[in-house]
Amino acid sequence: MSPAARTERGLNVVVLSGGVGGARFVRGVVDVAGAASTTVIGNVGDDVEVLGLHVSPDLDSILYALAGLADERRGWGRSDETWHALETVGSLGGEDWFALGDRDLGVHLVRTQLLRAGEQLSAVTARLAEALGLETRLLPATDDRLRTWLETPAGTFPFQEWFVARRHRDEVDAVRFEGEDAAQPAPGTLEALAGADLILLAPSNPYVSLAPILAVRGLREALLRRRVPCVAVSPLIGGRAVKGPADRMLERLAGGTSPRHVAGCYPGLIDALVVDESDDISGMNVDPIVTRTLMTDVDSRRRVVEAALAVSV
Ligand code: GDP
Ligand code: CA
Repeated sequence: MSPAARTERGLNVVVLSGGVGGARFVRGVVDVAGAASTTVIGNVGDDVEVLGLHVSPDLDSILYALAGLADERRGWGRSDETWHALETVGSLGGEDWFALGDRDLGVHLVRTQLLRAGEQLSAVTARLAEALGLETRLLPATDDRLRTWLETPAGTFPFQEWFVARRHRDEVDAVRFEGEDAAQPAPGTLEALAGADLILLAPSNPYVSLAPILAVRGLREALLRRRVPCVAVSPLIGGRAVKGPADRMLERLAGGTSPRHVAGCYPGLIDALVVDESDDISGMNVDPIVTRTLMTDVDSRRRVVEAALAVSV
């Protein structure tokens, strides 16, 4: 792209993101940088086959957030949701441990049919995004099968069994990504990274949302050889996760929940970390950017994104 076109469109920003937490930040990025200048690379390690359907929870959290369809009060899934299909499944003795609402199911039906017809996940995701009116590009990290597994004292579990069925009660000893050796970056991801003026890591869970993206070797290598800044946002505030198991995982796997422990999850991959003003920034090996990082509305999302964009690009 010519410099003039780039200025006209603003900065090209690529965000690596998990689901709900990441989607909050992605909304802010789109508000600040513009939808057409933003590319999101999403996690597929959480993908799961339920009732014969291919569910991509993290990609859908981003789709729903950007399309204005997310249920913000519940914190996941779609607004205005009903549960008749799942109730029927339960009453018939079917598999009902994974909450799929009726509206949500419609998306999984379409995705599954297109995948069975031979389309790649990236193409299917692009179709869904277009149909939902998104201007932002949403790319899965890979079209290949990549699945997150958790090793715990109670055994080794696929991601959703640990997270949903067992309510992430088991401490995690290790995280593995089935398929990581063969997984190729999805079409468009390397081009987006090569054309980025700034790369951002959303405040997603480092171990189970961002690590599966970074486990795709081509993506990790593209980040390692970047010529533009890469800035992460910490998912912890005052050493605690806003939601979910990130703090417990950091405590056990990294030995603490300070910004330096979060930064340690991204060795050589980030230049700065946006952290909350309540956190202790001592001992960090990347630049700290201190602000209030709780994102509850348009203004607070914008504040966090503007802090991240403040690095010189
Ligand atoms: P998931 O895939 O749906 O579990 O979501 P992500 O992995 O993308 O995000 C989960 C993380 O988001 C959790 O560790 C939360 O602590 C973090 N998070 C959620 N809301 C906020 C917020 O407002 N500010 C910050 N800094 N982190 C948040
Ligand atoms: Ca997730």
